[in-house]
Amino acid sequence: MEPGRDAVESVVLPGFHDSHLHLRAAAAARLSVDLSAVSTVPALLESLRTGAGDLEGRWIRGWGWDESTLQERRAPTVAEIDSVTASRPCALHHRTGKLVILNSAARRVLARSAQTPVPLDEVVRADAAFLRDMPRQPEGTLESALADLSRELAAAGVTSVTDATATNTWDDIQHLRDWVRRGVVRQRVNALVAFDQVSSTGGLRGDSASDDGVRVLGAKVAAPADGIAERVRHVRGCGWPVAIHATEPDEIEAALTAISECGPPAWGRDRIEHLGLPLPGHLERIRDAGIAVTTNPAFLSERGQKYRESLSPVEQDWLYPVRSVLAHGIPLAAASDRPVTAATPLSTMADAVHRRPRSGEGEPLSRHERVAPDEALALVTDRAQVDGPALDRGRGRGAAWPDLHLSADLVVLSEDPRLLSEECEVLGTFVGGRAIWGGEDPAE
Ligand SMILES: [Zn+2]
Repeated sequence: MEPGRDAVESVVLPGFHDSHLHLRAAAAARLSVDLSAVSTVPALLESLRTGAGDLEGRWIRGWGWDESTLQERRAPTVAEIDSVTASRPCALHHRTGKLVILNSAARRVLARSAQTPVPLDEVVRADAAFLRDMPRQPEGTLESALADLSRELAAAGVTSVTDATATNTWDDIQHLRDWVRRGVVRQRVNALVAFDQVSSTGGLRGDSASDDGVRVLGAKVAAPADGIAERVRHVRGCGWPVAIHATEPDEIEAALTAISECGPPAWGRDRIEHLGLPLPGHLERIRDAGIAVTTNPAFLSERGQKYRESLSPVEQDWLYPVRSVLAHGIPLAAASDRPVTAATPLSTMADAVHRRPRSGEGEPLSRHERVAPDEALALVTDRAQVDGPALDRGRGRGAAWPDLHLSADLVVLSEDPRLLSEECEVLGTFVGGRAIWGGEDPAE
């Protein structure tokens, strides 16, 4: 049936799923100075100067700088940051979450308290040990930001999410459970745990959880290419599935080699996160190993300029494949990667179809990877089937979803989302038959 504007007044669909995001980081980003929209270093410093005023007395945190979107094509220097932050400690988080710049005051504070020395580099890796001594956001403040985030997701029709944070400990999972139980987070929550949280003596198998719980889908591996194999071996030694951060060709190659050497997991399903630049032959190996993929169509609409500048035309052709992944029969789901993007399921659908900036300007990136609106819809609903409990290998897309409670997770839209209209509104969102969004906000 052709979707038609006249045919329907509102549309009821299975609830939307965001298959890879970071709840705590996305909440923390809401409490930070937003640097993601500035286009020059002076504008970044000005945002920091004005934004920091609201957070007097605390560490200044900035989030979202990205040298590739700044005219100068470089990070701000420590001296520049010092010039607007004076004696207050300040940490600026890169948009990818992987890098941090500290000002001189923050370096002095951490040099006094940290167990490990503060490196001399101006830009440091976010997983550097000395950064663990940086104060976290106060739990209460974080919680209200998390509630706002969850409400925003509900308003976008999201009924379930997967927290893919590579540093998740069992403590963090317990926090997630608590937030879900108390209704701070309204969505169903799946999560991955850090690879080193998995042990054969732990006795905890992930994929079982009560209705108000958090379902643990596997272990997240995020490492440089040459560190992937060792981590996958550790996780697989306990029978667990892995979700491997693999954007670049060498990371994808390392992920596939490691998984094929270890054989299949005892339960669940392996995933590759992002799959930015697979080389010819990679998709066949992903299919043969029964691996699912999560992809980020918003990167194509938001980073087109960066990709055009940094990749050859041939590489641009391979970038973030969608159509060819589906053609290989590989389970594929789309994700916002919040806070990296603020994509909604509806904007994600449009990005998967158009593969160009949302302004409509410019040529699509790898036009042959565009998909039809109906296929894009499947990427943001449970039809994607990447997060399910163990599914039989080789069962095709469209097989029965084994988790019956999800059948009462619904979204009501003002029109057929396959029309890709910007006017499409989310009228109601239901989890387990209970409204989490729509009419009057149930939390108010
Ligand atoms: Zn991520």
